[in-house]
Amino acid sequence: MNLFEAVGRLGHEQVVFFHHRDSGLRCVIAIHSTVLGPALGGLRMWPYANEADAVRDVLKHSADMTYKAALAGLNLGGAKGVLIGNPESDKSEALFRSLGRFIQSLGGRYITTEDVGTTTDDMELIRQETRNVVGVPQLIGGSGDPSRFTALGTLHGIRACLEFKLGHADLRRTSFAVQGAGQVGYHLVKSLRAAGAKVFVTDINEERVEHAVAEFGAEAVPMSQIYDVEADVFSPCALSAVINEDTLPRLRCRIVAGGANNQLESEELGTELDRRGILYAPDYAINAGGLMNSAMELDGYNEARSLHRVARIHGIIGRILSLASRSNIPTWQAARRLAEERIAAIGKLPRSS
Ligand code: NAD
Repeated sequence: MNLFEAVGRLGHEQVVFFHHRDSGLRCVIAIHSTVLGPALGGLRMWPYANEADAVRDVLKHSADMTYKAALAGLNLGGAKGVLIGNPESDKSEALFRSLGRFIQSLGGRYITTEDVGTTTDDMELIRQETRNVVGVPQLIGGSGDPSRFTALGTLHGIRACLEFKLGHADLRRTSFAVQGAGQVGYHLVKSLRAAGAKVFVTDINEERVEHAVAEFGAEAVPMSQIYDVEADVFSPCALSAVINEDTLPRLRCRIVAGGANNQLESEELGTELDRRGILYAPDYAINAGGLMNSAMELDGYNEARSLHRVARIHGIIGRILSLASRSNIPTWQAARRLAEERIAAIGKLPRSS
């Protein structure tokens, strides 16, 4: 991998490698942009097969965070951290505290939070060494697990999609195929059913599906068949890259709108969805509720204000869909354009000090 070329291509400001032999820390932090403010991005812990995979992952996801924060209207830039290791066996107090000290050395340019493989408890350990961490447990004044807010924001975005595509947002007249009944999927299925929607659900974990069926009256679907379900909305809430060349032709939905990150295997597939008349709600726009909630810790956490902020996702998705329709471009391009416009406009403001 040509590291400098990769960093230059996506326009990162800084990529930092942290190593601490005694605690086993091997971490890469990629700061993509600090134009709008300190760069916030989750810390992913994963047993990467090799270091190049870890670097590729951190470069891509940090750039996405810049657009996500910009669209969400936050005064934050984008970054990501990857911790190379097995989250089941390689965690220790020393590991997270050594990382906390390194994060502190970045002087506030990077703010971390939980992501795949890390938890609010891990963030609490980092917090012992630096204030530049959000997503700490509620018990110590933080915002806790963000998934309820991610699901809520997704629901706001889904309503905007329904209004645009179906001309109404009456969930009692709408059906959903939800892929994944984990933290985000669970809350989403619960809200959809409470509002009277018909919900089909699948998960690799059968217990989670059984819960959704017993608790909320969702209908179970085998994992391999979720793409073929005839429902108004396909809602990915599990994995990345679920819209790919194999699955796209199978979709029977009119809208793709869910909480998962990086739903499209490539941007071209977003264009192809558009060509086929399937409305795609850009993932980083619709799933920003968790980020909005965690980021509020920086101003002093307040749940009521957070709920108010998360409700803005309805308008954000609405603006993306209008721009896409007006300019005859796919929604993924419209989202990127709106984010870039905000970064450019705010980046040009005169400095106050
Ligand atoms: P989670 O691990 O709690 O849930 C994921 C679920 O998907 C699990 O129940 C898992 O068993 C299931 N799953 C795995 N492989 C599957 C498959 N092949 N088919 C069907 N189900 C499968 O994770 P989560 O926190 O709910 O996050 C879900 C997605 O949303 C991820 O892409 C995550 O990056 C994204 N996301 C989460 C948040 C958040 O606040 N938690 C915020 C933004 C984005």
